[in-house]
Amino acid sequence: MSKETEDALKERIKELTCLYEISSIIESVDIESIENVLKACVFSLKKAFLFPDFTDIKFSSEELEISTNRLSVDNPKIESSIRIFNEPKGKIIASLNGPKLTQDDFLKEEQQLLDNVALKVGNLLERIEIQKSETSLKRQMEHADRLSILGEITAGIAHELNTPLANILGFAELLKSDLEGDKKIASDLNKIIDNAIFSREVLKKLLFFSCKMPQEKKQVNLVPIIKSAINLLDATFRKEKVKYSTKINEEELWLKADPIQLTQIIFNLLINAIYFSPKEGLVTIQALQKKDSIILKISDEGKGLTPNDLEKIFQPFFTTKPMEDGSGLGLSVVHGIVASHKGSIIAENNPDKGAVFTVTLPKN
Ligand code: ADP
Repeated sequence: MSKETEDALKERIKELTCLYEISSIIESVDIESIENVLKACVFSLKKAFLFPDFTDIKFSSEELEISTNRLSVDNPKIESSIRIFNEPKGKIIASLNGPKLTQDDFLKEEQQLLDNVALKVGNLLERIEIQKSETSLKRQMEHADRLSILGEITAGIAHELNTPLANILGFAELLKSDLEGDKKIASDLNKIIDNAIFSREVLKKLLFFSCKMPQEKKQVNLVPIIKSAINLLDATFRKEKVKYSTKINEEELWLKADPIQLTQIIFNLLINAIYFSPKEGLVTIQALQKKDSIILKISDEGKGLTPNDLEKIFQPFFTTKPMEDGSGLGLSVVHGIVASHKGSIIAENNPDKGAVFTVTLPKN
């Protein structure tokens, strides 16, 4: 065998070994280990090149950048695009850093090897995307299930307590009018009445959460509803030294909904946004329409949401506020109203800071 053939053969073996190595690395991957796997792939690729000591490999995508070394922009290089669901989402670059090495020092087979690895990595990233969306769908379904079971239980309890509570209130008021002359008794009865009214309000909120509140849906324009909710809270914004800005490009955003319940959604979201805003923080209220839906986004610059908040935020009685400030029913009411309008609500963190709530309601 001539020396040339022998060298060429050695190169092929190196490339095949690399492909075999990368296939085995990729096979056993899960979401958590992706960074390490890509690291192993770039080092395996480096070894397969004709001048491994003078070759650097870089993988880059929107989220990750992994390389065997820093690549200089001026060095000769070949690259291959990584496609995920047929969209270019990154690339693998091989670059030569030897003093006399030029573009011609890349073998034709090296480009093929790079293409082959890019294809494998693309398939891997596709698999991970699918895995990720399946997990998030599963989580969303479990979450929705839990909330709907909680809704059923809550509705049951609220209904059971409604009648005795109405009796307590009714009889306490009767007694008060019977015993009008006695100040001490009247003051005690007032306490009973106040507490019964407070409990009735809690029950009402629980019924909202479980979507069991009567509603009057009609064609309404969301824009003036948002404006009047903001006007009502104007004094609170000023008192708390929180700024607000509205981003609504349209005069009219029509949908079929209960206008009072829409106000409740906006109110509850704004009250939280103000509460968690720092002094001089900005609350942004955005509304827009898509073909079949209206979207309302309320965003703040506060402390944002922890993973625990995100998990429990719509459950009744979940609160991180001190006792006197919160009952943990605001967002469960919002969730109930949105659900009874066949819409959806998402709580997230803003990329820089604060929380953002996105409500999507169908137009009809
Ligand atoms: P409450 O306001 O009475 O606590 P909610 O149901 O309105 O009840 O909110 C539940 C919890 O969700 C809050 O106590 C807080 O932990 C979290 N939360 C709601 N809105 C925000 C926000 N804009 N920023 C940070 N945390 C929030």
